[in-house]
Formats: sequence, structure tokens, C-alpha cells
Amino acid sequence: GRPSGLDTARSDELGDLARSIGQLSNDLERMRNERNEFLASVAHELRTPITYIKGYADLASKTGTDEQSRKKYNEIIQDEAGRLNRLVGQLLDLARSERQGFAVSLSSVSLSSLAESVFSLVGPAFQEKEVQLSCRIPDDLTAELDAGRFQQVLLNLLDNALKHTPSGKEVTLEAVRTKKGVRITVTDEGEGIPVGEQSAVFERFYRVDKSRSRKSGGTGLGLAIVRDIVEAHGGTVSAETRPGGGTVMTITLERGNGDGANPARG
Ligand code: ADP
Repeated sequence: GRPSGLDTARSDELGDLARSIGQLSNDLERMRNERNEFLASVAHELRTPITYIKGYADLASKTGTDEQSRKKYNEIIQDEAGRLNRLVGQLLDLARSERQGFAVSLSSVSLSSLAESVFSLVGPAFQEKEVQLSCRIPDDLTAELDAGRFQQVLLNLLDNALKHTPSGKEVTLEAVRTKKGVRITVTDEGEGIPVGEQSAVFERFYRVDKSRSRKSGGTGLGLAIVRDIVEAHGGTVSAETRPGGGTVMTITLERGNGDGANPARG
């Protein structure tokens, strides 16, 4: 007969293989479900503005509609078309990230100059709403990151901070050196995010207040994109509500983690 030790080893191997295959097919099944859910959400999110646009266009073109109502309907149509446009843009961003395997091209970037370029884009909107935009970043602070993609992260976070902060209040962008890298925070003086929803807000299409998000042109994708980009850098992002109200968004980047693709996304 054959040596039984070998048989045992072989059957152990076969068992391992069977378990790996089982695990893989579970993973595939889960991914398929996630994809289906995602597509269903996308379809829903696209359909909503289209429904508004169609409904208000019908109303606006009804005979006997007075000029003031027609103006109001047109504004709604404009807003919804703008939202639809942002939504499609963000979906393309997400698709591009996935196609590139969340790859980032890293270089040493001065955080204060990155902030400057972002401030020149969001500055006018802050001025218009009379929200003060402050920056506390040491001049010599650099980080290994993908400047273009990180600019988008800061744009999204500052955009949210502005949306949620009342006129006369302040939003602060801050960056500090840590032992292993940098920590970047965006702090606002808005209503904050309920404790139970502080991780959910990073999910695609998740919104704390649907109707409010709709009015402000929100898509529910901004923070999902932020998380994708930060995780592609090997970093983490989290939300907290300050004791006195207001949100703190914290990004932590540590050297040695930002090596491109990030397989560990949940
Ligand atoms: P949206 O396009 O709706 O802003 P996001 O993905 O950017 O989508 O944010 C998800 C949700 O998280 C928002 O709808 C809002 O409810 C909440 N949120 C995001 N940023 C803030 C903030 N700075 N303060 C309070 N709530 C916030």
C-alpha cells in the first residue's frame, strides 16, 4: 500500500483547496449582490431628477401658468439638471477609480500650496455665503500624495462644510505632522452628523437628511469618493461631531501605506 502520511497530506491540501474555492464563490456572490444593489441605487438616483424635470416642464408649459410660477418651475428644472450633471460626473469618477484599481500617482506635495489651489476654487462660494474660510497648515509640511485626486478630496470636504455651516460662521482646514505622516482636518460649525450615522455617510448615496440634501443639490456620492481616494492612499477618513456642534472630518495618512492599490476595501 501507499504511505498513509502522503494521503493525509494530499487530502489536507484538497480540503484547503475546496475551502478556498468555497470562499471565492462566496466573495463572487457578495460582489454580484453589491453590484446589483449599486445599479439599482444608480437607476433610482438618476430617475428622481428626471421625474422632477419632466413634471415641472409639463407644469411650465401648461396654458394659463402665470409668469411667476413659470419662473419657479424653471429654477427647479435648472437645479435638477445641475444635480443630474453632477451625479453623472461623480459616477464617471467612481468608474474611473475602479478601472484604475484605485491607483494613485504619488509625489511629495506641499500641503499649503495644495490648500491654496483649492481655496482659489471654493473661495468665492464661501465669500458669497459669508462663511469664513481659515487655514492652519505649516509652510514646510509636505505629504506623499496624488495632488489632483487629493484636491478633489479637499474640494468635496470643504463643499460639504460650506453647505452645512450657517452664514457668519467659520470653516477651518488644518494639517499637522504626526509621528508617521500627516493628519488633515476640515472643521465646520454646522449641525454635525448624528453619532449613529458617522460611518454610514461614507457609503454611496447615503444621506442624513434626504430632502435637505436634495435642496442643496447633494448626490450622496461626495464622501464615498473621498473615502475611495483616501483609502487608495492607504489612509483613513472619519467623521465626528464636536461637543458644541459642527463636524470634524479627519484624514490620516501614514508613510509606507500609500503604495497604490488598496485591496482592503469593505
Ligand atoms: P451629499 O451630496 O448629499 O452632500 P455626501 O456623500 O457628500 O453627499 O455626504 C453624505 C451625507 O453626509 C450628506 O447628505 C449629509 O447628510 C452628511 N454630511 C456630509 N458632510 C457633512 C457636514 N460637514 N456636516 C453635516 N452633515 C454632513
